[in-house]
Amino acid sequence: MARSVNIAPEVQNMAKHMKTYKFPAPPEYYQKCKELSKLAGRVYSKTVSLVRKIHRKKGFWLSMNTVQKYILRWAQNIPLHSQTKQALVERYFKALKSYFKASKTNQGLRPPFRTPKYTNVVWKNQAVKLLEDGTLRLSMANGSNPLYIPTTLPKEVDIRRVELVYDKRQDKYFFHVTVSFESQTNISGSKIVGVDLGVVHPITASTEDRAVLYNGGVLNSKLQYRNKKLADLQKKLSRKKVGSRRYRKLVRAKRRLLGKIQNQIKDILHKYTTHFAGWCLSLGVGTIVIGDLRGIRDRVDYSTKVNQKIHQWLFRKISDLIKTKAEALGIEVVFVDESYTSQTCPVCGKRHKTSTRNFRCTDCGFEWHRDAVGALNIRKKYTGEGLVVGALASPVGVRYNSHLRCPVAMWSPWKPTFEWVKTS
Ligand SMILES: [Zn+2]
Repeated sequence: MARSVNIAPEVQNMAKHMKTYKFPAPPEYYQKCKELSKLAGRVYSKTVSLVRKIHRKKGFWLSMNTVQKYILRWAQNIPLHSQTKQALVERYFKALKSYFKASKTNQGLRPPFRTPKYTNVVWKNQAVKLLEDGTLRLSMANGSNPLYIPTTLPKEVDIRRVELVYDKRQDKYFFHVTVSFESQTNISGSKIVGVDLGVVHPITASTEDRAVLYNGGVLNSKLQYRNKKLADLQKKLSRKKVGSRRYRKLVRAKRRLLGKIQNQIKDILHKYTTHFAGWCLSLGVGTIVIGDLRGIRDRVDYSTKVNQKIHQWLFRKISDLIKTKAEALGIEVVFVDESYTSQTCPVCGKRHKTSTRNFRCTDCGFEWHRDAVGALNIRKKYTGEGLVVGALASPVGVRYNSHLRCPVAMWSPWKPTFEWVKTS
């Protein structure tokens, strides 16, 4: 059961967001979708071969404008919307741009070269219209019939783009609709929360009276599995001749495995940070204080150099995600130096080494979860306030599951205001 919240009118935080919704293509559209993807593949592949050919023969890269003009002429008889063709050229130039950036540090890279037979079709906003009943009208080239896709979108949404995506596993086509919206968070945002990033608990957060700990079990087992598999594959690879068929097959297997695990890890990080952003929103948090990542190296017992690198990546990723999601909600994010924060008593300020998960101050008797103490101290570094004992509720744990969601309903085109939803 959901109930609306009365929001204080004095503070208004407006922020622009994008959100993507997926709608399956009706089964009778399968063949049509396949044809369109093939047309898009032709336009994209022509772009790739043209740009690369000029670079090979003349030694320079064409500009996007020039290529767009050329492609529009070349693809005159291809019944895709002119903006769709332009968007496909833009896609290649985006890939090219990231290649230029990456090749500054990595000399061995090749410019993007794939010329796929099929690719995603893009409709930019001018080629999209949402009809009264929620049907999407996707325009094609002049003289060709538009495509009508049933959706459940309400008519007020601001659609920025639509992409036709093929899902290989399900052998189905989906329309990804990206909408832009302005959120009004309207939170008075007076509370301050300290955040401690760690290995056992990827995120631990604490306000002056409550804490939340995100369990790292699933995440760590994914990381371990990744390391083990990677070592196995590396061992097998070392026994194969470089460039042989078996070698290349293994390289492909490695890439597939890495991609898959990477996606699972990202899913966990996204679910945790979204949940955390909602937790902050529901408490009226205005400032998130994160312990500076430089300190982490000193605190964690790394078994190998590899682990260290992975964890640094992980902490960076988590703090970036928190920053993006929190700022979109109008919550400010600051970083503080986190050295000694897990060893200092938040009440009396004495330092104690703790070997267990529980922090116990032998001077004043204060006792609490060690990571939550770290988060509390990070908060204290920012506020400068001492802690009043007795007000703390015992920390709440959050465990990953594939249905974990934000405790507060975020903006959605169906419910364009914030609402509380019951958390379980
Ligand atoms: Zn103490």
